[in-house]
Amino acid sequence: MIPFLDLKNINAEYRAELINACTRVIDSGWYIQGNECKEFEKEFANYCGTKHAIGVANGLDALILILRAYKEMGIMSDGDEVIVPANTYIASILAISQNNLVPILVEPSLDTYLINPDEIEEKITPKTKAILPVHLYGQTCDMDKIVKIAKKYNLKIIEDSAQSHGAYFGYKRSGNLGDVSGFSFYPGKNLGALGDGGAVTTNDDELAQIIRALGNYGSHKKYENLYKGVNSRLDEIQSAMLRVKLSYLDKEIKNRREIANYYLQNIKNEKIILPFVRKEDNHVWHLFVIRTSKRDELQKYLSDNGIQTLIHYPIPPHKQNAYKEWNNKCYKVSEKIHHEVLSLPISGVQSLEDTKKIVNIINEY
Ligand SMILES: *Cc1c(COP(=O)(O)O)cnc(C)c1O
Repeated sequence: MIPFLDLKNINAEYRAELINACTRVIDSGWYIQGNECKEFEKEFANYCGTKHAIGVANGLDALILILRAYKEMGIMSDGDEVIVPANTYIASILAISQNNLVPILVEPSLDTYLINPDEIEEKITPKTKAILPVHLYGQTCDMDKIVKIAKKYNLKIIEDSAQSHGAYFGYKRSGNLGDVSGFSFYPGKNLGALGDGGAVTTNDDELAQIIRALGNYGSHKKYENLYKGVNSRLDEIQSAMLRVKLSYLDKEIKNRREIANYYLQNIKNEKIILPFVRKEDNHVWHLFVIRTSKRDELQKYLSDNGIQTLIHYPIPPHKQNAYKEWNNKCYKVSEKIHHEVLSLPISGVQSLEDTKKIVNIINEY
């Protein structure tokens, strides 16, 4: 079976360095809020091109803390609205509802699967405070249009960069394309820890300071609490793992691009719609997503032929039990996408041999 994602093999490449880094932390006697996290934050901010990076416990917390900080700053309050794509992974939407803010779903474009910028403006009301673009599958959203709308209506832009570490838009990278950005280092992400992890990046000094305090019991200074904060920190072991992985991220992206380009050039089957790529460096191929009307049939065919695939995602957020209040709403494009997409295996360690085999089997379908 060709696995969808072989995490063991991915981390095996760096085994010796990971063990060294882990040993360094064990022997340091310092496990939370130490030098490793500080250094990783510097290196990651530098990679994204931002002034600040703040390590947090996971990607969901990164987004929750960003919105919470804007509330502490008086920029948002209960009941305000945040615009978000209807086909995102549900975490982007949960971060909004958990802050007593209202998610306003906007349909994606059927070609890119990214929020359709031409449908944002009609959803803006006096309560709208932010747009939360999600660079889904690893491709950056059309930020020229989104920034223009945000400026016109004085809205914040909060990027969800959980799938797009290293992706460019123009000469800037994901994480530096709006006011602030949330990242996830879940093990399967392009930059993955060996456990949970996340970060916030921003150029805004005040926002950075508040987010750092909020993730540390609301404390900016030991035993003094400015806010009713939470505990959401990136620990020293995961920071050390991420420093190793970050140094190879560009190489991993290059390998993913080679596989994606091979798929793009060699999959030839009229039943299958290949992903649309705006510009090569805009896409880091967290997922290689194809579309076909008989998706479940194709998935079964591939599985019968030894290829594991996954669906990102099978049920749209507005049809989830968690959002019962939306269950009777209709987001046609999003529903079509959820019905038709299929993610092929792709990773920094996938062999050309496996990629060729996958292409041949798909072409025979
Ligand atoms: C993975 C992911 C998240 C959540 O990250 P976690 O670290 O798993 O909490 C948020 N948004 C998107 C788009 C994701 O893919």
